[in-house]
Amino acid sequence: MKRTVLFIGILLAASSTYAQDIFKKHGHNKEMLTLSKGRYKETFINEDVVQIGTVLINTRTDKVITFLEEDTTKVAYKAESTSRFLTIDPLAEKFPWQSPYVFCNNNPVLYVDPDGREGVKYTDENGNKTVESNVVVLVQQKKTIPQNATAKQIKNIENDNAKIENRNKERVADVQKRLDQAYNGSKGVGTKNSAGETVKFKFNVKGVETANTRGGTINQIRAIAETHSLSTSQKDFSGNKINALSAVVTTRSSGAGMGRSNGIYVTESAIAPSITLAHEIGHTLKLNDNFPNSTGGLMDYPPGNLIASDVDNIWENAYEK
Ligand SMILES: [Zn+2]
Repeated sequence: MKRTVLFIGILLAASSTYAQDIFKKHGHNKEMLTLSKGRYKETFINEDVVQIGTVLINTRTDKVITFLEEDTTKVAYKAESTSRFLTIDPLAEKFPWQSPYVFCNNNPVLYVDPDGREGVKYTDENGNKTVESNVVVLVQQKKTIPQNATAKQIKNIENDNAKIENRNKERVADVQKRLDQAYNGSKGVGTKNSAGETVKFKFNVKGVETANTRGGTINQIRAIAETHSLSTSQKDFSGNKINALSAVVTTRSSGAGMGRSNGIYVTESAIAPSITLAHEIGHTLKLNDNFPNSTGGLMDYPPGNLIASDVDNIWENAYEK
């Protein structure tokens, strides 16, 4: 009986010993062997070697074993990896109903969002605020003269081309006139923002001859816009200058007599061309439709005149020159 008590006593003493971390008081954090039958880790392998940041260090000898290569994720992103987004939409706050990680309203077939903002803003030496935008009007391509053409045929083609040239010039001048009028008011001086300052709009309207004035595919229209874009002072994360894409006025049919814009291309309504052109160009300057609630101004249905809040929104979303 005495022996049994002694044996149990030894067992209890032993069990209380392995329950304590005897190494702790010496400043070492060691795992101890237990009888967990595999429930817990009971090995000591590599316990002396720990990784701190990019350094492998032996905690027993206090010696550095090796330096590890730095994580490469931050340098691996190149400008050509355009499918990657490093930030959320810079205008996310304006669209709280939409995830900031959604691209093109989740509908890249219908919408194009080249960079989230359009138009270039600056204050000139006289303190005048200006928003500048390039507007490309797709106009009819002139005919080419075949090599074996007779003198009469050449004359006919040249006559036709003179007419095409005239029509093109008229079309470009008309777009310029209507945009200037809609954005700079009847006096042509500009439109006031809500702070009472006058903002002048400068549209560089230019005709570009093309075989297809409808503009072709979205990518083809985008290529035209990129060719005629405005340079800004801002740079992307690779240090390349950011350009604000221009608007491209096409003769695409929009149906239902309405104008249409996808952010780059613009098409006019045949019913009310003047004001719908200004409205659709407004979209390329990042104005949104006042829908379903009318708040007045250019983005109403039907569109009204440019108002102070429209000017504020364009200025806010434009790039710095
Ligand atoms: Zn609209």
